[in-house]
Amino acid sequence: MSTPDTGDGTRAVRAGLPDPVKHEPTLPGPTFAAHFHLPGDPTGPYTYGRDENPTWTLLERAIGELEAPGADAETLVFASGMAAVSAVLFSQLRTGDAVVLPDDGYQALPLARAQLEAYGIEVRTAPTGGDAQLDVLDGAKLLWIESPSNPGLDVCDIRRLAEAAHARGALVAVDNTLATPLGQRPLSLGADFAVASGTKQLTGHGDVLLGYVVGRRNEAMAGVRRWRKIVGAIPGPMEAWLAHRSIATLQLRVDRQNATALQVAEVLGKHPDIARMRYPGLLDDPAHEIASRQMQGYGCVVSFTLSTRARADRFLEALRLVDDATSFGGVRSTAERRGRWGGDAVPEGFIRLSVGAEDPDDLVADVLRALEESAR
Ligand SMILES: *Cc1c(COP(=O)(O)O)cnc(C)c1O
Repeated sequence: MSTPDTGDGTRAVRAGLPDPVKHEPTLPGPTFAAHFHLPGDPTGPYTYGRDENPTWTLLERAIGELEAPGADAETLVFASGMAAVSAVLFSQLRTGDAVVLPDDGYQALPLARAQLEAYGIEVRTAPTGGDAQLDVLDGAKLLWIESPSNPGLDVCDIRRLAEAAHARGALVAVDNTLATPLGQRPLSLGADFAVASGTKQLTGHGDVLLGYVVGRRNEAMAGVRRWRKIVGAIPGPMEAWLAHRSIATLQLRVDRQNATALQVAEVLGKHPDIARMRYPGLLDDPAHEIASRQMQGYGCVVSFTLSTRARADRFLEALRLVDDATSFGGVRSTAERRGRWGGDAVPEGFIRLSVGAEDPDDLVADVLRALEESAR
């Protein structure tokens, strides 16, 4: 039941639901099946569990209705965000092709880069901010955008980059993990693929790994589908069902978490101990102007830098309502010193804070108290 003309909350609670059937549940439970009854010629929709599953079908419809309402697009779900990212990169690129990646994107992208290069694919990188990827597009087959970037929260002009890439014959993929489909719709900004980790705010409870690709080019999507079948990076039916159930509350969570993130960013941005406060929703953030043009929400992640690694560690230790954990987007706030992984080009005191669904006043008080305690 597609509802492209309604508001985000209405679309989220109904996304992907089948038409009502008497005595059946609203959202059918997970279908656990490695294979399906299949007498005669092996025709679909459901033959073997690595190719298709009815629980995925409903989830794919739901994600498609949020990412590309009313559009003619195809959605494929994967076992994780990286499975989805890799499916696009490795299904679309061949030896001798060139691809443009951000140099400040998700920390596993450099691993993908090394693998692409091992296959004889030329990889060029440029920063997300300032639309710097424009300068290295000539001759590229695929442009990979991550906006806002994780963890630096830079933003680029997706429409401008997509137009420049298309003019050169390149396809465009946007990692939409941080914004969620309620915060930004890459396909409506001109991208060919919206790719995301559903592990983060899309599902929002820190208990599921998931990824997806939404695309509007049939041939390209056939390649992505073939890649999923070859590699077998498929979500379990239980994970797919949990994800679908969680999407019903997506708008509630996004609204609450984003509003609190802005509040936290405003308070921390004025704090003398904090440097390089980044949140695209802040009026004076370098990304604000372009973000406000292309995004409907600015996300639940804020990033900032404390003076030293020791100070950052003491701050994290002093927090009571914020778990010291990686990932982001969950209903329980998390934060980490990002430099501990060694993969991002960030200062030692750099903190990525993911704002959860706690009462805003409690969270702000906890963060301010931890700042004060960690100064001693
Ligand atoms: C987490 C993340 C991924 C990878 O997702 P997984 O579900 O962890 O595999 C990709 N891109 C971004 C921007 C992410 O934050």
